[in-house]
Amino acid sequence: MKKVIIIGAGIGGLCTAIRLLNKGYKVTILEKENRVGGKVNLKEKNGFKFDLTASVLMTPDIYTKIFEEVGKDYKDYFELINLNLIYRVNYNDKSYLDIYSDTRKMINFLEDIQEGLSIEYFNLIMTSFKKYLISKKGFLDEPMIDINETLNLKSLQNLIYINPISSASRYISSKISNKKLREYFIFKSMYIGVNPYTNSNLYTLIPSISSMYGLWYIKGGMYKYISSLERLIKELKGEIKLNKEVSKVIIKNNNVIGVKCDNKIYESDIVICNADYPYAIKDLFEDNFKEFRYNKNNIDNKDYSCSVFIIYLGLNKKYENLKVHNIYINDNFRESIEAAFKGYIPKQPSLYIYSPSSIDESMCPKGCSVMNIIVRVPNLKFKDIKWDRKFIRAFRDKIILEVKNIKGLEDIDKNIVHESYLTPLDLKDKFNAYYGNAFGISHKLSQIGYMRPHIKSKTIKGLYFIGSSTHPGNGVSVIIDGSKIVSEVINNDNKE
Ligand SMILES: Cc1cc2nc3c(=O)[nH]c(=O)nc-3n(C[C@H](O)[C@H](O)[C@H](O)COP(=O)(O)OP(=O)(O)OC[C@H]3O[C@@H](n4cnc5c(N)ncnc54)[C@H](O)[C@@H]3O)c2cc1C
Repeated sequence: MKKVIIIGAGIGGLCTAIRLLNKGYKVTILEKENRVGGKVNLKEKNGFKFDLTASVLMTPDIYTKIFEEVGKDYKDYFELINLNLIYRVNYNDKSYLDIYSDTRKMINFLEDIQEGLSIEYFNLIMTSFKKYLISKKGFLDEPMIDINETLNLKSLQNLIYINPISSASRYISSKISNKKLREYFIFKSMYIGVNPYTNSNLYTLIPSISSMYGLWYIKGGMYKYISSLERLIKELKGEIKLNKEVSKVIIKNNNVIGVKCDNKIYESDIVICNADYPYAIKDLFEDNFKEFRYNKNNIDNKDYSCSVFIIYLGLNKKYENLKVHNIYINDNFRESIEAAFKGYIPKQPSLYIYSPSSIDESMCPKGCSVMNIIVRVPNLKFKDIKWDRKFIRAFRDKIILEVKNIKGLEDIDKNIVHESYLTPLDLKDKFNAYYGNAFGISHKLSQIGYMRPHIKSKTIKGLYFIGSSTHPGNGVSVIIDGSKIVSEVINNDNKE
């Protein structure tokens, strides 16, 4: 039985473990923190439960398929709830736009705003959805470790159809005449931490997927999914060791032979690194380690996704106007979005607010609510911002002032019973996210597909990678699918 060591129990590490256990490998995960999940984690205080980061669940089939693959019914592990209202988009003039997955409701809502707006909306959704289907089949579901996978006639035809060069904002503006609806699409297109004003229109596929598949919620929050994966690993006789920080990957004669942790060598035939790829390149390998396009000397020059600042609020009041997913679009919208990519804090931030307690009472004490207020901010490559107490307090005050501008939330500052924060420094220090990036190495065109860090080492036998900075990219469902690709590549490489 081949022995596998996985560095990190993020979503990529957990799902790859399950898929390899199912194929008969002996798997041990070494995780530096005292809990599994990586960035998809949980914060609990006085009965208030907060999903640490991820909240938006698209493509539910990807989440459930991994359970089916190992002969389990996901319903024995977690409950999926369909959200009919997928986003409430609030504007700072106190108006709002509701985005439904229900076609009839969406048409009625948009036609009431502007005649013909529903046609523009569905036209953008459909053209972007086609781009998604093409990308999924053409490269997201492929290993992308061989140049021939990229350079063939079909992929070139696909590229011509996708036409990824024009920016998301330009593409959206060419299709949507209503400013408020346009801003919603632009806001959602930066979901994986790229600037929608300069980066590919490919990422309009994100709002498109939300509308086509709907958005879903797991009762108990996103961490319920992580604890379900953890339970499944234990049932499949996998081993998870917590508080184990790997310090080196051990390589001999271009073969991986294990890892070093707590001054002890853990031997294995295969090592899979789920820790953030650029951090791993820098810290876990010897100086001469080199991968395709990425090495210790050039890794700092790569582009990284933005980071995030999150305020977690426990409130002793229920807020009817808060839905599970809320967006707040500010005046001076473009500045509020681009600041995160240009290295400064916007004067009037636009926000995403996650409030699972609006439908799930298990997230807080009775009569209360929870809110994660999330703002995209520069990653730590931009050195001007000092995330000290004084700065955090001032930024927090600015954000709360904006939230109070949302209809029905005018009194939130008077009802706060728990308040805490997450900064780029936390992402860096807790999870080794390089430069405190929130969404991995940037998904700009020259860093995706074949050009993204590969899932399999070209130089070291037995070494593989999975996670937001590697192919196929960032996002829980993308990484769950990535675990399928990497486990199949490993299995093919190890056929007797
Ligand atoms: C604020 C925010 C919001 C997001 N929202 C969404 C969303 O709504 N929907 C969505 O699908 N995605 C979302 N994402 C993205 C999603 O959370 C990530 O893509 C995903 O969690 C990354 O998983 P990963 O497998 O790359 O591992 P990570 O979560 O990065 O985990 C890596 C693990 O490796 C461990 N590790 C690191 N170094 C070592 C070492 N030396 N030894 C041992 N262990 C080590 C870390 O502690 C960590 O547990 C969001 C991300 C952020 C930051």
